Amino acid sequence: MLTGIRIVFLGGDARQIEVIRKCVEMDATVSAAGFDKWEAPSPGVSLEQMSVELLSNADVLVLPTVGCDDVGNINALLSSHPLQLLEAHIAALPSHCKVYTGMAKSYLRNLCARHSLKLVELLNRDDVAIYNSIPTAEGALVMAIQNTDFTIHGSTSMVLGMGRTGFTMARSLQGLGSSVKVGVRRQEHYARAEEMGWKPFMTEELLLHVPDVDLIFNTIPSMIINAQILSRLSRQCVIIDLASAPGGCDFRYAEKRGIKAILAPGLPGIVAPKSAGIIMANALIQSISDDTLNRGDE
Ligand code: NAP
Repeated sequence: MLTGIRIVFLGGDARQIEVIRKCVEMDATVSAAGFDKWEAPSPGVSLEQMSVELLSNADVLVLPTVGCDDVGNINALLSSHPLQLLEAHIAALPSHCKVYTGMAKSYLRNLCARHSLKLVELLNRDDVAIYNSIPTAEGALVMAIQNTDFTIHGSTSMVLGMGRTGFTMARSLQGLGSSVKVGVRRQEHYARAEEMGWKPFMTEELLLHVPDVDLIFNTIPSMIINAQILSRLSRQCVIIDLASAPGGCDFRYAEKRGIKAILAPGLPGIVAPKSAGIIMANALIQSISDDTLNRGDE
């Protein structure tokens, strides 16, 4: 339980509503700024304006999945006013307060470092990335279905990268009856892909493996589907680039060749905000509980 812990939420989208609900269920004292457009706020949440006073009482500050941008603007889809995180806000936090987000940019990292505050990036956790890969793969399948005139069953698909997202993507495609090629760079991934019944290849040989592919799902966050690769692809092939912006595809050249290539960021929050929120909530609650236990041991 989170009894007696004061949690302040600043901004967010439908995912954050799930996180707030879970924290209230766990008996935390919850305040939230940037939620005035929330139609039916959970009982037990105090909706506030963002202020230095609000933050000066926080044991935990929770920012949205992408904490804030390079000048402190907080993504606050349920707010009628813009929210901006300033140095004065961070300076007002008590020294024991922990700041949570999905992933932080340097603006937030620097602010927390300057004020010696612990910053936790939940998306860095392996378990969170693995759970998050489920709505990501489902969203990628939706995009593939919407942008093709053929079934995934019977298609030849390719997944680039066999990390947390790539593995789930390949398994989901296989489950739908696609013949799945997987591009890897490590022998142990090659072996695991073969064991899973996929067709592995080393990414340095990507050029040899693209001509017969109908769908490509990229999870490698660097330029891998370059102009040379695109020149060997069939024009009917559809590319769904899941890697974080700017992705791993030469979109300019893809367009020139008439190949459909789509950068698809933030799929969990788009296709399954409730599930994505529950994933973040579970990780947040576990982290706060572990921290409280550890403090008790000191
Ligand atoms: P990850 O677990 O680190 O997986 C990335 C994989 O790519 C790793 O296995 C890595 O290999 C491999 N890789 C990197 N460069 C390679 C290369 N040149 N050749 C072959 N393999 C290479 O990361 P993840 O959690 O799966 O996330 C992947 C990307 O998707 C990230 O950019 C993440 O931000 C993004 N993402 C997007 C969404 C969305 O909604 N679109 C959702 C979740 C994640 P090694 O293991 O050898 O390092």
